[in-house]
Amino acid sequence: MTERFSQGFLDRIIAATDVGSVIGRFTALKRRGNKLVGLCPFHKEKTPSFTVDPDRGLYYCFGCHAGGSIFNFLMEKEGLTFYQSVELLARESGIELPKLKSGGKSKDDTYEAADYGARFFQKALKADIGGEARDYLKSRGISGKTWEVFGLGWAPADRNHLVTSVEKARKETESFLEIGLLAKSDRGKLYAKINDALVFPISTSSGRIVGFAHRRIREDPNYTGPKYINSADNDIYHKSSILYGLAQARAAIRREKKTVLVEGYFDVIALADKGIDNAVATCGTALTSEQANLLARFAPTVIVIFDGDEAGLRATLRSLEILLEAGLNVSIVRLPEGEDPDSFVLAEGSSALTDIIEIAPDWFDWLYDFGWGESEGSGVTAAVSVVDRIAIPLGSISDSMKRNLYVRELSKRLSIDEKSVLDHLRRSYQKQRSRFSESSDIPTHEELPARAKLELSLVAAVLHSNSGDNGENPLTLYPGLWEKAVGGYTPAEILSEIADERARGYLSATICEGKSENIKFHCEMLRYKLSRMNIQEKIESIQNRLREIGNGENKEEEATLLGELNSLVRKLNDLGKTTIK
Ligand SMILES: [Zn+2]
Repeated sequence: MTERFSQGFLDRIIAATDVGSVIGRFTALKRRGNKLVGLCPFHKEKTPSFTVDPDRGLYYCFGCHAGGSIFNFLMEKEGLTFYQSVELLARESGIELPKLKSGGKSKDDTYEAADYGARFFQKALKADIGGEARDYLKSRGISGKTWEVFGLGWAPADRNHLVTSVEKARKETESFLEIGLLAKSDRGKLYAKINDALVFPISTSSGRIVGFAHRRIREDPNYTGPKYINSADNDIYHKSSILYGLAQARAAIRREKKTVLVEGYFDVIALADKGIDNAVATCGTALTSEQANLLARFAPTVIVIFDGDEAGLRATLRSLEILLEAGLNVSIVRLPEGEDPDSFVLAEGSSALTDIIEIAPDWFDWLYDFGWGESEGSGVTAAVSVVDRIAIPLGSISDSMKRNLYVRELSKRLSIDEKSVLDHLRRSYQKQRSRFSESSDIPTHEELPARAKLELSLVAAVLHSNSGDNGENPLTLYPGLWEKAVGGYTPAEILSEIADERARGYLSATICEGKSENIKFHCEMLRYKLSRMNIQEKIESIQNRLREIGNGENKEEEATLLGELNSLVRKLNDLGKTTIK
């Protein structure tokens, strides 16, 4: 689905919206000049670095570099799609939504490709060709209704299937390559990347499909790779921010006020099939704080279910820290060794698991008992090992009152005065976590490449200058932004279309910083730097090629390259003379 609002429409909504009070629902804002500032709602901080430009409808955080339009803000904080966020603000300000016109855009095309792929696999699972896969699902006790809810599919063994279907439908293959459904052989021939496998579409919390996991259903003694293979991160899919099954589980999570966190795709599906429909899983990676914050938006409590082995225990302790840090209440269920939720439900029935979930102990009680159990020493050694076990998760809790209540409880149980317990907790925490003092709450973002910064600065400058710059498009990383920037689109409209968070944050900050005094000169300067970079890159690649072919072998190519090199160097010199007056 490509959704595009007419130019100016988003601006009308922003003009009619009290942007400060919408964002103010998430963090308290104070006026400073024509901006509003407050504590960042995207990362933990003690001094405000979060800025809102209410007139333009933009926000930016100097700490974690989150940024974008008010629509991006609602997408991030409320888990809405772009369309839903526009719809929400339009409704609040009494503006009627126009009929949408379609337009081509690469990100939308990627969504469309993901949708198309999912439907293709779903059809195959229902067709004759999917018989074996349906039998397999049945053998694992999954009903047809459930696999439809999760949109499971079957990728046929023939590598041409999807290719033929895509070509027949006259779809652009580029986005299928981006999302990892198609690939190209060395000879340039397209083939389907997923084949002979059960497919699990992965979607955002609002239900938009953005990636795929797949697994074989037959035992292959020669195969040694991972059981589940997951799409690589791309334009629209960022593993670290997505929880498998959240779209299907979100209503149940809100209703139950708790989320069940499991390890595998199949666990989520098996539990849902047996009526435990508030379960989610990470997508084959360790839990991230982004995912924990996402969970915190839906319900205050998380029940972690994990396999009884050593690896499961370590993963749980790590997840526990992250969940507590996000302010969640955490309860823990440890299954007997060798069991996962899927096998447990099959063996013991769903009510057995429901009962266990119902009485799952708070992490503190669980870890307290666990600490006693694992220590073989005397009472004193055991007590110390209990405190050591609890120190790290306790230190992860940001709410000081909550933390203090746990300390008091611990001191009561061990019959040791609070101060001694606290001292030991602190020392133990620091010993186990010397890295703590160095690390800050700010998530680390990779720096944007120099070219990206230049291009985005130029876009911001063109927006500030309001002059329909009619020179040729100098952008190579964000070519689509040029036409919009010179075509009079507003910052919010442009920002709403940038998928990459870093780029969006950077552009939003640059726009918020305000207009340079001599904006015309500033634009020219940036254009000059970009052109220079373009030429320098070409020169570099020619020099590399010259080094590659070495001396003497290929006289003809060498001569051509030297000729090109000369003219590029001349161009570089001329550029300085003509552009900057
Ligand atoms: Zn921030």
